[in-house]
Formats: sequence, structure tokens, C-alpha cells
Amino acid sequence: DRASVAYFGAGPSALPTSVLETAAASLINHNGSGLSLVEQSHRSALSGQILQNAKDSFLKITNATADTHTVLFMAGGGTLQFSAVVYNLFTAWALKNPERAQNGERGACEYLITGGWSSKAADEAKRLVGEENVNVVLDSRNYHHAGEAKKFGNIPDSEEWKGNLKAGKDSAFVYFCDNETVDGVEFPKGSPVDVLGEDPDRIVVADMSSNILSRTFDASKFGVVFAGAQKNVGSTGVTIVLLRNDILSLLASGGSLPPKLTPLIPVTPVMMHYPTISKAGSLYNTLPIFDVYIAGLTLTKLLQRDESGKTALAQQEAESDLKAKLLYDVLDKYENIYHVVPAKKVRSRMNICFRIKAPGDEAKFIKGGEEIGLLGLKGHRSVGGIRISNYNAVGVDSVKKLVQYLEEYAKVVL
Ligand code: PMP
Repeated sequence: DRASVAYFGAGPSALPTSVLETAAASLINHNGSGLSLVEQSHRSALSGQILQNAKDSFLKITNATADTHTVLFMAGGGTLQFSAVVYNLFTAWALKNPERAQNGERGACEYLITGGWSSKAADEAKRLVGEENVNVVLDSRNYHHAGEAKKFGNIPDSEEWKGNLKAGKDSAFVYFCDNETVDGVEFPKGSPVDVLGEDPDRIVVADMSSNILSRTFDASKFGVVFAGAQKNVGSTGVTIVLLRNDILSLLASGGSLPPKLTPLIPVTPVMMHYPTISKAGSLYNTLPIFDVYIAGLTLTKLLQRDESGKTALAQQEAESDLKAKLLYDVLDKYENIYHVVPAKKVRSRMNICFRIKAPGDEAKFIKGGEEIGLLGLKGHRSVGGIRISNYNAVGVDSVKKLVQYLEEYAKVVL
């Protein structure tokens, strides 16, 4: 049963049992209505309440307000946002700079590539607007430990790449991935947005799919934050987009449907057009309300942690840090057995990627873990190794069980 396993999968990932129990009941008979929630209209009052609760809770947790930010629920995963930010923010650039746009300019989009996901996002931008309009500010494959083949695992100090940025007024947006799920690399808190934000004209976009709600962040510094729900927030099927209202207003000034501005600015497909989705209250088409419900239950549970003096997110952050520390400590203690892949200062608190040095031992380690109920430890197929995903719903108890296994495994080998 659930109590006997600890799940460290990278996404979809563990959810609180109480959330799943409530959702399970709702799948048959939602709140005594006699209907399953998946049978209810997305436009019913009941669905409206579910959406509103999820939006309000998300804003409250992230310390943003409806005055400054809009929350959108969209389908298509984090991957759809790779495209959506390009379409919308080139349009925003053209609306802000009509004369330059009419003269055939379109600004550049800029990418900090620090792992597989930001690399994929940059590739999509290249496909949509042409390689020559994508400025790769940083490719961290060039900065891994000296002497090793080019691969992700480190992020250089901003002094190394700051000079590659365009001026904010020439930039449609700058994009980074806050936590690289496959490579186990996370930007230290407050970085790089503090550096990027020095130019007030620059719009910062962050993919927080795998570390959203695991630490506090200053929403005012981001133009767009997006996150697929299936890691720290809920089930697969909805993506949360946190959009700054000044950008939304600018986009809305282009018309209620995506405009054709100049031949160089691609027309945004309607399902990605932020003002269209916003105007419809995220219900331009049939949104999977059941997934929004699960997200809302998780958010409500997180908010219950609110205590005088310390916000829910600050408490979650402390817990995430503690769990990550327990894991890295044991991996470092047995450094002859285990090798943590990323450089120390950018180790992810969410996805702990390591190798077992002895050849052939990783399969043995994973199998041994499965036998005692420690599941989901296999690294991503593109990089191999072991990956422990330490999302919000992974309890301290589960982490302690895994720490004990890591200890015992190392002692047997030593
Ligand atoms: N960004 C990051 C950081 C991710 O971890 C993932 C998926 N694991 C994605 C984007 C893509 O998300 P999706 O599969 O929801 O499209």
C-alpha cells in the first residue's frame, strides 16, 4: 500500500495521500452532487469556484496579487510554453516598438542554456523565429569541470555571461530554466533574475516546472513564470502561467484575437494567446477541471502551513532545503562510492543526480531500493545514473528512509 512505499519519481511525481483521497471520492461523486467532477461542465458554478480557489491560492502562496499578476491555467504542458512565450513576447515587443517593427525589426530573444530543458526551449525559439534571432547568452556546457567532455552540470557566475546580453529595449525577452530536472542543476536563489532585472526594459521568463513552490521568489521581477503542475503542484494536464499585468495589458492592446503585425512577427495560435486565455478566465476551451481541482487541493494544503511570522512557502522552503541537505550529506560522506554530478554551488534541491562509481552497480542499487519500497530512482534516459526527486510531497520520513539505504549500501560496498 501507499504507506509502505516512498516515491522519488521526477514527474509525474508523488502527491499527498490526503489530496488523492479527496480527489478519488470526487471522481465518483463530487461534494454530494451525484456527479463525478470529470462529468461536470467546465462552465458550471462549481468549476468556476474550483478555478477561483486555485488561482487565489497560487497568488497568495507566491505573494503576488491580482493587481500585479494574472494566473492562467493552460494545457499543453511546460512544452507548450516554450512556444507560447516566443509568440506572445515578440508580439509584445512589436506593440511596444511599432515604428521599429514596421521597419522590419523584431528584437531578439535571449536564452541562458543550463540543461536539457532550456536547451529544448531555445531550439523551439530557433525554429519559430530563426536562429539569427535567438541570442544564446550562456551555454553552460562550456563550463563543466575542467577536463571533462562538454556537458551540463555547472553554471558560471554572471560576470562570465552578463556581457552577452542585449540592451533591454532590443530584447523581446530573456529566458532561463530555474531548475533543470534532468541534469540536477538549479540556479541559486535570487539568481539570475537579480542580474537580469538591472535593466528595467528587460522581460524575464522563467521555467519553474520542477521547483515552483519549493522556495520563495519575488514575482515582481518576472514577466512570465510557468510550471507544469505535475511535480510540485498537482497532476499532469494543467500548466500554471503567472503573467505580469503590464505585459498582459500591452498584449491585449493588440486586439482580442492574436493580431498580424508585420511579416516578421509570427501570429500567435489562439490557444497560446495569453490575452485570449485571460479574457476567457482560462476557459477559452474545455479545461481539465479535475486537474485544476487536484492542484487546488495541494495549494490549499500548502497554505494550511501558514503560521504567524513564517509564510507557507518559507516553511516549505526550509523543509525542501533540509531534505536536500540530508541527501547530499550522505552522498558526500561516501564520496568514494557516490559521485554527485553537478558542481556544488548549483546542486538542485529538487533533483539530486548522482552516479555510483563501481561499474554496473547502479542497476543493483535501484533494484535493492525497489525491494524495500524506494521507487522512482532511475536517472533520465538521456544521462543515466540515479536521480532522487525531492518534491514537496516527498516527506522527511521518506527521505530519511532513503538516507538510511544510502548509508547501508555504502557500508556493504566499503
Ligand atoms: N521544463 C522542465 C523544467 C521540465 O522538467 C519539464 C518536464 N519534466 C518540462 C519543461 C516539459 O514539461 P511537459 O512535459 O509538461 O511539457
